[in-house]
Amino acid sequence: MGYVGRFAPSPTGPLHAGSLRTAVASYLDAKAHQGLWLIRIEDLDTPRNILGADHDIITTLATCGMHADGDIVWQSQRQHLYQTAFNQLQAFTYACACSRKEIADSQTHIGNDGAVIYPGTCRDGIAMNKVNRSWRLRVPDTTDSKNKIIFIDRWQGLQEESLATDTGDFVVKRADGTWTYQLAVVVDDALQGVTHIVRGADLLHSTARQIFIQSLLHAPTPSYLHVPVVTNTLGEKLSKQTGAEKLDLTQPIEILLTAARGLELKLEEQSVKSVESFWQQAIPAWAARFL
Ligand code: GLU
Repeated sequence: MGYVGRFAPSPTGPLHAGSLRTAVASYLDAKAHQGLWLIRIEDLDTPRNILGADHDIITTLATCGMHADGDIVWQSQRQHLYQTAFNQLQAFTYACACSRKEIADSQTHIGNDGAVIYPGTCRDGIAMNKVNRSWRLRVPDTTDSKNKIIFIDRWQGLQEESLATDTGDFVVKRADGTWTYQLAVVVDDALQGVTHIVRGADLLHSTARQIFIQSLLHAPTPSYLHVPVVTNTLGEKLSKQTGAEKLDLTQPIEILLTAARGLELKLEEQSVKSVESFWQQAIPAWAARFL
C-alpha cells in the first residue's frame, strides 16, 4: 500500500511556529516514504474560522516549499460525507439534551484531555420536558474489551486509553448541527486513503476516539506520530491566544531551520542556502530517525 499523509490545518489564523512544525514533520515523513502529502482545510468550526486564513496558510506552506500532491479539500464542502457516516453510526449514537452547564455541574470526573466526562444522563433517552441538543457516540463499558484502545505512536511510544474512563460518550454532531472534529477527521482520513497521520501531540488523546470510530465504520487505522507541541515561555501550547508571533515569510530558511531544530533533526545548517537545499538535507535526516 502506498503512503498517503496529510496536513490538516484549521483556518483560525495564520500558521505560527507550532503549526508550521507539524506541517514540516508531516511533509518530511511523506517525502521520506516517497509518499503523497495532502492538504485538508478543517473549517467546520465556523465561529473560529478567520476569513482568508486558509489561503494565507496555503501560501505560507508554498513559500516554505510544501505543495500538496493532489487537490486541496475544504471540510465545509464535504458535509454530505459526514452525514453518510453519521447514518452508518446510527446504532451507536443517541440524542443528548444536556447543556454544557448541566454537564459541568454533574458530579463526574475529568477526562485525560481536561474535559468533563459525560455522566451518561441521556444514554437511555432524554427526559420528557427536554429537547435534543447534540448527538453522542456511546463508548463501550469498562467491562467490554473493545473499551481499551492500544496503539503505538511512532514518537510518543505505547499508548493505552480506556474510552469509558478517559473520555466517555462524546459528541459527533453539535446542537447547532455542525459535525465535530472527531467524526469529520476519521471520515476524511478514510476517504482520502490516509495511511500515516503526523500531527501535534495536543491531539494524542483524540486518537483513541478516532480509532474507535474507525472500528465502527470498518475503516483502517492509520499509523500515528504525534510531534511535541511548541510552547511559549509559560509552557503553554503556542496559539493565537497564547501570543504566537506571525512567521516572517521573508526568511523561509530560518523558519524551516527552527522547525527542524524543534523536531530534533541534526542538519549542517551553514550549508542550507535555499529552501530546496533545506529539504535535501532534512528528508534523509528524518528518514534516518524515523524509518
Ligand atoms: N485541524 C486540526 C488542527 O488544526 C488538526 C487535525 C489533525 O491533524 O488531525 O489542530
